[in-house]
Amino acid sequence: MKQFILFSMIGTAMVCSVSSCNVSTSDTFDPFVDGPLIKTDGTTLSLAAEISRLGMRSAGELLRIEITSDEVRGVYLLKRDALQTSAGVIVGGGPVNKAFTHVVREDGELFLFIDALIGSQATASIEVDTSSTAVPALPNQRIQIVFDTDFLVDGLFDPEATGEAGDAEAMDFLSSIQPTVRAEILTRIQQIYDGTGVTLFGPDDAPQEPFSTLTISGQRKLATGDELDGLEVVGCSDVVVFGELLSDATRVDAGNHELADNAIVYVGSFRGTGTCNAGLIVNSTNNIINALSLSGAHEIGHLLGLNHTALDGIMSSAPSFAIQRQLQFQRSQIALDVGRGDEVFTTVIQDPQLYFDEILAP
Ligand SMILES: [Zn+2]
Repeated sequence: MKQFILFSMIGTAMVCSVSSCNVSTSDTFDPFVDGPLIKTDGTTLSLAAEISRLGMRSAGELLRIEITSDEVRGVYLLKRDALQTSAGVIVGGGPVNKAFTHVVREDGELFLFIDALIGSQATASIEVDTSSTAVPALPNQRIQIVFDTDFLVDGLFDPEATGEAGDAEAMDFLSSIQPTVRAEILTRIQQIYDGTGVTLFGPDDAPQEPFSTLTISGQRKLATGDELDGLEVVGCSDVVVFGELLSDATRVDAGNHELADNAIVYVGSFRGTGTCNAGLIVNSTNNIINALSLSGAHEIGHLLGLNHTALDGIMSSAPSFAIQRQLQFQRSQIALDVGRGDEVFTTVIQDPQLYFDEILAP
């Protein structure tokens, strides 16, 4: 069961004098105003706050950023949100434990957001890189969608099922709709990414390198280890993974620095054996197309650096269950996974179209 906790990063400012230290209740701490100002001269710093200020930056500036920590999951660059106070909107990001460069695309105040549990520590070094005179161009992101030969039959037909679900007719049905489902998934994902700067390719195309891939696989993937940690499993024989990025330990390619990374959708995970996802999509062509294309679009979102969000759009944590309707990309607070199956919402806004405009060539 998922529990949602509304969380706002608002505390109270500390007002200290020599003899006393009082917490002021009249003054609200706004990290976008009162957060620590980070030096950008390459000094090694210890960072505890989730949001720090990088000051006014100029278009064309290159920031070389390196965050080292075992506890941090991702690093994001924010600008102040134009639509609501005390919020920042994501304009870029990068990996942890590996230096990356952020190109400032427009003049304005910039912030650093560290995706980590409260209380986590990181070592940071941020330096304005003056070695290059030319501003790097925005990259093209090409993604090829490929399918296992019998992705539907292998994925959804259960030979151990009793009754109609396990008979030859069920297998013939899945086999007969496979070409239609494949074509429809391509069409739907194309529509979703239309105008984002992402170029999608089908299985028969030969995209120019580098390119990423999304595989629609017949496999069934059971959750293991961390994914199961503390999850309360009620009435399910299996807890499954519907899709993921295939790069080691990467949930999200923050800032889209990898242009040849790979994601997968596990069609077999949609074939339930317990009550959690049993028979969710099987035997309805429309449900199969909706669930698989939305899940594919969601995993591509992670390949590009999108996080899970609070609202019920493509990047919510369970698009796989939106079997009877279409979801859109939505502007929303991002949701942080805090373990035990819980999510916390932040003052960090993800606006997919704005983000795509910042990171991809049109
Ligand atoms: Zn996801």
